[in-house]
Amino acid sequence: MMRLPPFTYLAPVSVRDAVKLSADHGPEAMLVAGGTDLYPNMKRRQFEPSVLVGLRGIRDLVGVSGSARTGVVIGAGTTLADVSGHAEIARHYTGLAEAAGVVSSPQVRNVGTLGGNVCVDTRCNYYNQSYEWRKAVNFCMKKDGEICLVAPGSSRCWAVSSSDTAPVLWSLGATVRLVGAGGERTIPMPALYRDDGIEYLAKRVDEVLTEILLPPGDGWSSIYLKLRRRGSFDFPVLGVAVAARMEGDTVRDARIVLGAVASLPREAKPAAAALIGERLTPELITRVADLAAGPSKPLDNTDYAHFYRKKMTRVFVARALRQLVGLDAEGRADEESA
Ligand SMILES: Cc1cc2nc3c(=O)[nH]c(=O)nc-3n(C[C@H](O)[C@H](O)[C@H](O)COP(=O)(O)OP(=O)(O)OC[C@H]3O[C@@H](n4cnc5c(N)ncnc54)[C@H](O)[C@@H]3O)c2cc1C
Ligand code: SF4
Repeated sequence: MMRLPPFTYLAPVSVRDAVKLSADHGPEAMLVAGGTDLYPNMKRRQFEPSVLVGLRGIRDLVGVSGSARTGVVIGAGTTLADVSGHAEIARHYTGLAEAAGVVSSPQVRNVGTLGGNVCVDTRCNYYNQSYEWRKAVNFCMKKDGEICLVAPGSSRCWAVSSSDTAPVLWSLGATVRLVGAGGERTIPMPALYRDDGIEYLAKRVDEVLTEILLPPGDGWSSIYLKLRRRGSFDFPVLGVAVAARMEGDTVRDARIVLGAVASLPREAKPAAAALIGERLTPELITRVADLAAGPSKPLDNTDYAHFYRKKMTRVFVARALRQLVGLDAEGRADEESA
């Protein structure tokens, strides 16, 4: 059985105190919310903080406010179960409710938070292993080692962004509020991520993610589809988030964001641009799905072969577009979704 190493647990009851404690302890401290990713990582010695700053006692971080008319604010400490079960989110930000509802298992969703999901560590077959396993292969540069075992000639780590909600939040145009010792800032989702498997967040160690802000619903609809081996609780090895604003049967605006194909969520901009001003015909859906597969460049470091995951990008983007506007596999109005 893997055990947690010793550490000091600090339990602030305000964001201000959490920020101060994080700033005082610097890189030796880590924030913990639900702990569903962090504690297993500590057991495998992927993380070795001597201090944990717990966010569970901060009431201001929990809850959902606002409406689709004005925009919705979700506290970072809100559980995934509460996000997926929230009526306004399920109705007007459907893709987000779907993504939160397919993270892991019900037990993890009852404890894991949206903030933790947005900040969740990147993953790789050579990294998400016990300390003994990693030691046997002489470690890798993400923790304790020198080189990348997936791409030995590479100077960077290619671990995979594996959050289910991040691609959807990106596609919805969400922003996040970060509060740190130097003040507060609100940034769009793309600005939170970096294309690096180790330094994957553009967030300072003392910064606490306090809120996720969704813009007004404004006629947008959204969907999230996830590829994984075991439907009951696996991480995504491909996530496809599509958001679109329709006017009749014409697409007025669209965003397509792919998860688990790079070290950050990857926006398929040319694919979305090809939709604008067009009707969603079967031919257009095929063309857009092909375009979306362009930026999908999975490496051979998660479950399933990387060429299969790339191929499935096309399939999932086409499926998502059809489902979003209620078409069946042949491009006819789907009676079940009508
Ligand atoms: C068996 C298993 C299956 C899983 N499957 C999935 C899956 O399918 N999809 C998926 O996306 N995830 C999955 N996870 C990972 C994890 O459970 C979720 O991502 C969860 O949402 C993490 O939230 P948490 O509150 O538990 O985060 P924690 O574990 O507490 O923290 C995760 C990271 O976020 C940071 N953090 C947390 N809150 C904040 C904050 N407010 N501000 C700044 N930093 C913060 C922590 O410092 C840490 O680095 C799985 C985990 C397990 C154990
Ligand atoms: S991509 Fe390379 S450096 Fe990064 S975790 Fe995997 S093996 Fe390690």
